[in-house]
Amino acid sequence: MGPSLFDDTMEISFWGTRGSISTPGRTTEKYGGNTPCVSVRSANTFIILDAGTGIRNFGHELVQKYRNNFNEASLNLFLSHTHWDHIQGLPFFDPLYIPGVHLSVYGSPGKRGLLEQILRGQMDMDYFPVQMSALSAELIIREMDKELIEIIPFRIDWQEQIYHPGGSVRFGINLGKKRLVYATDVELNKCFVENPTPEQKGHQRAYMKFIEGADMLIADGQYTAEEYVKTKNYGHTTIPLLADIAYRCRVKQLAVFHHNPPHTDNNIDELWQDYHARFMTADPPMNVFWAREGQAIPL
Ligand SMILES: [Zn+2]
Ligand SMILES: [Zn+2]
Repeated sequence: MGPSLFDDTMEISFWGTRGSISTPGRTTEKYGGNTPCVSVRSANTFIILDAGTGIRNFGHELVQKYRNNFNEASLNLFLSHTHWDHIQGLPFFDPLYIPGVHLSVYGSPGKRGLLEQILRGQMDMDYFPVQMSALSAELIIREMDKELIEIIPFRIDWQEQIYHPGGSVRFGINLGKKRLVYATDVELNKCFVENPTPEQKGHQRAYMKFIEGADMLIADGQYTAEEYVKTKNYGHTTIPLLADIAYRCRVKQLAVFHHNPPHTDNNIDELWQDYHARFMTADPPMNVFWAREGQAIPL
């Protein structure tokens, strides 16, 4: 029998798409208020991108699916960085309270503190009632050293992003010929400037090569150009710049991510209408959408 048509399909689920801080409430219920968490699944292997407050609902779904027997599940968490909005959901990830669960955590080797100490610190008594040592699951925390990480059937590559306070990492998740790029929390506006220095030019090239031809790019598009006047140096990219670069690099689908907390569903719908129309009629077209909490997309 030949390989199944679906062997190379990854299922991408958005559990949290909001940037900076969670924004519950009626005006954000469509695109969601939880902070970043995206899961990528092939059979029973999960690549989890960030552990913002969205990871809590993902944990509920995993517990429903596997009950108390996680033997078949491979859980691998990749952290772009350790700002609150990307780690705050971890202590509320239910599988961590189930004996026999193993969670591998991957993060940048370039932080000022050790990744394990930072994650442990978040569960210090001053901040949280349950200490990390009391978790039933086994956490295997690794600072990435190799350029390519193989978690069968996935291959994951990564790069430091530089233009974010404290740094952040982008990830490429490859399955068969498909490539998904997750590149949040980066201020591309500081690198894609008029008259770039040779260093900025190098970083431009590295970014463009990384996203070139991606089947999907999930990327920081927090601000409109008008907002950016006041939010320069906060570490996030403007939507028009992101869309331009993605289009130039022949990205097939662009998921705008890390939504600005003040953006309501109406604001985002308006942005979507404008950008979607513009890029769907381009030749070749690019599908631009704003990632929505609860959305699941096969790739
Ligand atoms: Zn963030
Ligand atoms: Zn950040």
